[in-house]
Amino acid sequence: MQFEPVVGLEIHVQLATASKIFCSCSTEFGKPPNANTCPVCLGLPGALPVLNSQVPEFAAQLGLALNCDIRMDSQFARKNYFYPDLPKAYQISQFDRPICENGWLEIETESRGKSRIGITRIHMEEDAGKLIHADGSDESLVDLNRAGVPLLEIVSEPDVRSAEEAKAYMEKIHAIATTIGVSDGDMEKGHLRCDANVSLRPLGQEEFGTRTETKNLNSFRFVQQAVSYEMERQREEILDGKKIVQETRLWDSDRKVTFSMRSKEEADEYRYFPDPDLPIVRLSSELIETFRNNLPELPDAKRLRFIEEHGLSTNDAEFLSASREISEYFEKVLALEASPKLACNWIIGDLTRVMNESGKTLKDINLSPEHLADLTKFIESGEISSKIAKTIFEEMLASAKAPEVIIEEKGLKQISDEGELGRIASELLAANPEQVEQYRAGKTKVIGFFVGQMMKQTRGRGNPAVINRLLKEKLDG
Ligand code: ADP
Ligand code: MG
Ligand code: ZN
Repeated sequence: MQFEPVVGLEIHVQLATASKIFCSCSTEFGKPPNANTCPVCLGLPGALPVLNSQVPEFAAQLGLALNCDIRMDSQFARKNYFYPDLPKAYQISQFDRPICENGWLEIETESRGKSRIGITRIHMEEDAGKLIHADGSDESLVDLNRAGVPLLEIVSEPDVRSAEEAKAYMEKIHAIATTIGVSDGDMEKGHLRCDANVSLRPLGQEEFGTRTETKNLNSFRFVQQAVSYEMERQREEILDGKKIVQETRLWDSDRKVTFSMRSKEEADEYRYFPDPDLPIVRLSSELIETFRNNLPELPDAKRLRFIEEHGLSTNDAEFLSASREISEYFEKVLALEASPKLACNWIIGDLTRVMNESGKTLKDINLSPEHLADLTKFIESGEISSKIAKTIFEEMLASAKAPEVIIEEKGLKQISDEGELGRIASELLAANPEQVEQYRAGKTKVIGFFVGQMMKQTRGRGNPAVINRLLKEKLDG
C-alpha cells in the first residue's frame, strides 16, 4: 500500500523589537533571570497591557512578503490555560481576527520541483516564560524574561508533501523574515520554532488522515528529521492495523525519535475570547501601501538576479541570497570591483567555514569588504597564488590588516620574474643531472620534482605557470 504524507507547519518567529509586546521591558537575551520584568509581564493584578506599535507593523510587512491579505482592524484574544510559565493563566494571542490571512509561499525541492504552500494565517502573540529544572533538585524555577516577547505565528495550509519540503519551507520563512528585518532569525536563541502536523493518506484518497503535531522543532534539520520519522512511524502503525491517535508529540534530538506528550482530547479547550484590555488594532490602507512599496528585494528575486547579473550557479546564488547579512556583504565586495566568482567562492568557502567554526556572525569577524575585494584582486592579477591567499586570509582575520600590508610584511608576493625564476631553474638542472637524464629519456613526470624544488626555493611564492613553462623550455631544449 502506498501512502502520501500531508504536512502543515506552524512556525513561531520572534520579532526583532527592542522592547516586549505589551510593556516597555527589554527583550535582550541572556540577562539574569527575571531582570527583564515588570508588573505587566509578571501578570500582576491591575497592570494593563499597551501594544508596542512596531509589532503589527512587522506583522503586516511579513504578511505582505508572504502574499497575505492584511486586516485593517485585527483583534487580540485571550487563550486560557494554566501553566507555571504563564503568570496570567492566559496568553494574549489572536483568534478569529488575525492580522494576516490567505497568503502563499513558493518553495523548490528536488523531489517535487516548485510548489506553492498556502499560508492560512499569521497572528501576533506574546511568548511565555521559561521553566528551569535545576540539576539534582526536584524544584522548578521560573524565569519570566521571555514572557511577553513578541512572536508571529505563521500557520500553513496542509500543502507540504515531504520532509524535504518541510525543511525548505522553514528555510524560506527564515530567509524572508531576516531579509525584511522583522526577525534576527538566530536559531541558537530559538527565534524560529516550528510545530509540524503530519498525517498519511492512501495514495489517491482525497480525505486527510488523522494527524499528530510534533512541537518545538528549533532547527531546519530537526524539522526534516522529525517529519521523516513521523511519516515512517505512522506508516508502520497503519500497516500493523493500528489507528493513528491525534496527539501532541515531542522530538528527542539525541535518540532521533518523536514521543507522545499528551493526547489531543486533554488539551485544546482554550475558551478564547476578545481581550477587553486591548483596543482593536487599526492599520490604515495608506500605511499598508507604504509597506508594500517599501519591501526590500526578497530572497527569490535576489537569487535570480545573482544568477543573471553575476553568472553564479543556482546553488551559490541560493546560498548567498538566503541571508540579508551575507548578500549585502557580497554586494559590497562586488561594488569594489572584485570578481563575482572569486568573491562568491571565498564567502561560501573559507568565510562561512570560519563563521561556523567560531559561531560568530559576519559582524563579529574582522574582514572588511575592502580587504576581501583586495585579496581577490591580488589573486586575479597573479600577484599571489591561491595557496598564499589562504595564508593571507587567515592573517587578515587574525590582525585585521589589509592584504597588501601582509604581503609586504611577510614578503609573500608571487615571483613571476622570468630572469629570477630562470636563474633558479638553471641552477637546479645543473645540480641534478640524473633527473635531467631521466626526463630526456622520456620519464617526463620528473618535471614534478623540479617544480617542487623551485617552490621550495621560492617559499611557495613562485608563479606555477611561469615555473612550468621555464622548466619545460630548459629540459626540452
Ligand atoms: P489546531 O488549531 O488544532 O492546531 P488547525 O486546524 O489550526 O488546528 O491546524 C493546525 C495545522 O495543522 C495547520 O498548519 C494545518 O495545515 C495542519 N493540518 C490540519 N489538518 C491536517 C492533517 N490532516 N494533516 C496534516 N496537517 C494538518
Ligand atoms: Mg496548533
Ligand atoms: Zn514587562
